[in-house]
Amino acid sequence: MRIMSDQFLLSDLIDLQEIDNEIYKIESEKKSSENVELLKDLENKFNDINKNVEEVKTQLSDYYAEIESYELDKKNIVQKVQNIDEKLGEDTLDPNELLNYTRQKESNQQQLIKIDKSIELLQVDNKEELDEINKFNDSLEELKKELIETSKKVQGEWKELDIKLAEFESKKKEMILNFPHEIQALYDDLKNKGVDVIAAYKLENNQCGCCGVDLTSSELDKIMDSKFQQCHYCDGVVV
Ligand SMILES: [Zn+2]
Repeated sequence: MRIMSDQFLLSDLIDLQEIDNEIYKIESEKKSSENVELLKDLENKFNDINKNVEEVKTQLSDYYAEIESYELDKKNIVQKVQNIDEKLGEDTLDPNELLNYTRQKESNQQQLIKIDKSIELLQVDNKEELDEINKFNDSLEELKKELIETSKKVQGEWKELDIKLAEFESKKKEMILNFPHEIQALYDDLKNKGVDVIAAYKLENNQCGCCGVDLTSSELDKIMDSKFQQCHYCDGVVV
């Protein structure tokens, strides 16, 4: 024998289920719009190209090491030239010192030119790979623009959906707060178990409204006599 308030509460669970359905619908809409799919595609492409860049860079690791060492040499020489320039700016130099420093400066400048030539040669030797990296980087720049544009569109879409979502979430919260504790506990328990449909009306032909399984009339009787009218197959509440 069930009392009236039980009946009322169990059908309340269906109202809650309907809100959950709406929430689920909005959440899947958020995940599956055309722009979200495009965003995923663009991100995959971006990551693939980045991977290609990394591969080519690995092939060029000797090149980069050599360039780095040349750049360091250049920096040191430029510093030397600066120091020499300072000396040359002093008016206490005698002609010998002047000549000496001027020669030092010239020799350093020639070293710089030599290094620049070596760098150029190195770049020519590795031209194919360097061009490849440049091409990849151009594609990445293009993709970045597309990514930003698309993610803005997605954010716009989500803004509207999030407002709807928040409305349903607060309705749901309010509803659950008005449930008796044991019903709240039942709801949490079923959600934790991963039950998809918490409550539904019985369908025609004695099917469970939650999972759709065909129930014999004795099974249905048992369900209706149990405390929360739960289906033995899916644990959902059959009203
Ligand atoms: Zn069921």
